[in-house]
Amino acid sequence: MKYFDIVVVGAGPAGLAAANAAAAGGGSIAVVDDNPVAGGQIWRGGPQQQSDIRAGAMWAALQAAPNVSFLPHTRVLYAPAPGQLQVQTAAAAGSAGSATTLHFNHLIIATGARERLLPFPGWTLPGVTGAGGLQALVKGGYPVAGKRVMVAGTGPLLLAVAATLRERGAHVVAIVEQAPLPALARFAGSLAATPAKAAQALRLFAQLRGIAYVRHSHVVSARSNAAGALDAVRVRRGKSGTEQVLDCDYLACGYGLLPNLELAQALGCATTVHHGQTVVQTGSWQQTDVPGVYCAGEGTGIGGVDLALVEGRIAGLAASGQTQRMQAALDERARWKKFAARLARAFALRPELATLAADDTIVCRCEDVPHGELRAHTSWRSAKLQTRCGMGPCQGRICGGATEVLYGWRPDAVRMPIAPARIATLIATSDV
Ligand SMILES: Cc1cc2nc3c(=O)[nH]c(=O)nc-3n(C[C@H](O)[C@H](O)[C@H](O)COP(=O)(O)OP(=O)(O)OC[C@H]3O[C@@H](n4cnc5c(N)ncnc54)[C@H](O)[C@@H]3O)c2cc1C
Repeated sequence: MKYFDIVVVGAGPAGLAAANAAAAGGGSIAVVDDNPVAGGQIWRGGPQQQSDIRAGAMWAALQAAPNVSFLPHTRVLYAPAPGQLQVQTAAAAGSAGSATTLHFNHLIIATGARERLLPFPGWTLPGVTGAGGLQALVKGGYPVAGKRVMVAGTGPLLLAVAATLRERGAHVVAIVEQAPLPALARFAGSLAATPAKAAQALRLFAQLRGIAYVRHSHVVSARSNAAGALDAVRVRRGKSGTEQVLDCDYLACGYGLLPNLELAQALGCATTVHHGQTVVQTGSWQQTDVPGVYCAGEGTGIGGVDLALVEGRIAGLAASGQTQRMQAALDERARWKKFAARLARAFALRPELATLAADDTIVCRCEDVPHGELRAHTSWRSAKLQTRCGMGPCQGRICGGATEVLYGWRPDAVRMPIAPARIATLIATSDV
């Protein structure tokens, strides 16, 4: 059992900014993350490895703060009682790992987001991955040099992924973006309001020079070779709907991001729908409707690293009672929220993406449930009870986002533990 004034769950930009801001308040702070190093999705590999100087500066300040502890390899599983979190540490070589209860006065949830994957014939073939998923593998050392990779889906993440792949020697066949040209042009024009983002976009396009950026187009199917691995991808282009087959070894495909809500929902925090997405409902200081619990970063809506950082700062200041230092951050948050709204408008999913799955296309990959079986149901609950959709190891993290687009369902409850846990952990904490 460990006691802290503030526990921050998530060591991505939002969590690090929250801990950094709260540290000056003087209480004891723990930053918990299930990854071995801090940084979250964008600063994967550690904040000190990044070209973004904010990452290294924040990390250095946190290392120097005597009241901040970093708990890596530590996964939050559930909340046994108000003010408590049950965590599991990873099993290192020769150790069984352990289960511990963290007690807190204030909690900041900064658990980020995951990719939305959409089913199409062939999306389960070896070689087809999430766009951010392949990026994460490559940042972790997975070799792609000389491989032909198509990056498809929607949003600025596609550009970041393609840049990472090219940097590691992959041949990026094309970037296939579903958003139409007018939406992209409006978004590009609006970047004048956020010069840092405009500069980042220019840098990315310079890095990607020579790679086709195919707009208003989407993948309709993927084909395998005799060995059963990905071989080629069929792409439908533009208004005309002409189709083209492109050969590739990997297809990295992602349709935007979805907030990770499980922990907030397990704690009973209210959610709301914003820009068509379920997000944690927060007040002006990032507080949820559960006393003492705050949420910052992608959990409150997808908005990019700058919004995550400023929301984290506000949550950290609020949780540590430093509200008098908050005004500049509140103004900055308003600016980045406008950017997030423009992002959501520009990259809204087109309806035809919900029509790609054939009857035999698997939608729930864990339980092998095909589209033909699911579309006979009227709700997530009915489908779950009768087909086991969403009941496998990912607990609906992948098929939940897909069934929302395909059938308009929203998973309605979260089961604890919120992430896979060792049996020893569950035995040690008998109240699950
Ligand atoms: C796969 C992926 C790749 C991305 N790549 C880029 C990119 O290259 N460039 C870019 O600009 N943006 C990228 N983004 C977007 C970027 O993540 C956001 O813009 C922003 O940085 C999010 O910050 P955050 O702190 O809210 O969340 P994150 O950075 O996602 O951090 C959340 C952290 O919480 C931890 N966590 C979650 N649940 C638990 C739990 N139960 N117990 C313990 N720890 C937990 C996670 O391990 C993670 O480290 C990516 C997003 C995703 C999903």
